[in-house]
Amino acid sequence: MKIGIYNNETAESQRVTKLLRTEMERTGLAYTDHDPDVVVTIGGDGTLLSAFHHYQKQLDKIRFVGIHTGHLGFYTDWRSFEIDDLVESLQEDSGQSVSYPLLDMKATYSDGEVESFVALNESTIKNITRTMVCDVFINNHLFENFRGDGLCVSTPTGSTAYNKSVGGAIMDPKCIGFQLAEMASLNNRVFRTLGSPIIFSADSKLILRLREENGHVLTCDRDQWVLKNTDDRYLTELAYSVSKQRINFAQYRHNDFWNRVRDSFIGGVR
Ligand code: NAP
Repeated sequence: MKIGIYNNETAESQRVTKLLRTEMERTGLAYTDHDPDVVVTIGGDGTLLSAFHHYQKQLDKIRFVGIHTGHLGFYTDWRSFEIDDLVESLQEDSGQSVSYPLLDMKATYSDGEVESFVALNESTIKNITRTMVCDVFINNHLFENFRGDGLCVSTPTGSTAYNKSVGGAIMDPKCIGFQLAEMASLNNRVFRTLGSPIIFSADSKLILRLREENGHVLTCDRDQWVLKNTDDRYLTELAYSVSKQRINFAQYRHNDFWNRVRDSFIGGVR
């Protein structure tokens, strides 16, 4: 079994990376950059997002393990003082894993070109120069005309990230589906949206047909693109569905999801 390491640049993450490399050498665990079976990320949930996109083409053969160098994260089960335990688990690895759904996004441009993306957390679309207007289609039926700041489409594991900040529901990551949450929708006698988040089933298809040609900001996890009409080429449509790919984590111990939600967002409960 070959182990890859993906760390952020903080002093603590570099210290932990050095420690892990030393322990791996001491115990005979093989290190690789190119074709790892397990990728250990060292940093935060954001670091795991970056590692996911770095190794996106190898998702079917990689399992991830996250070490958090700060507080405990949602993708990062291990703390920096647990390196010895983690190395022991890597040595005893028998392929145990847990996998979670991802989100496919297809962006269509006015010249017919289609770009494909996969999100671990979410994709958002906003218009930063004016009110965003778009037609929302669910399973090819027009559902509503949205006006507002933008829309956030998230995975179950991404539901605790941006989605939560915009009032989306937290999804149990064992659910297979995805979620649409509004960002500051306009609701009055003229304009109307549902006004609440929607959770879609595994076979659903969501299409956002954009009305403006300029001013959009499109995101996919940590990546962001500011889009404008250049030479009569602009973004016209976004299509979302559950991806055929999944993210796999090496599961050496069980961390209850709802305990993590409570610890992260509520704290002490009497
Ligand atoms: P960032 O602003 O540096 O980090 C955003 C925060 O979100 C960090 O504290 C990160 O945890 C946390 N996070 C990431 N994934 C999470 C998850 N699945 N559940 C709970 N918390 C999570 O931005 P970044 O590092 O580039 O990360 C991009 C992500 O930031 C996006 O995918 C989006 O979800 C989130 N974001 C949130 C808002 C908002 O809430 N208003 C706005 C923009 C982006 P760590 O500290 O452990 O890395």
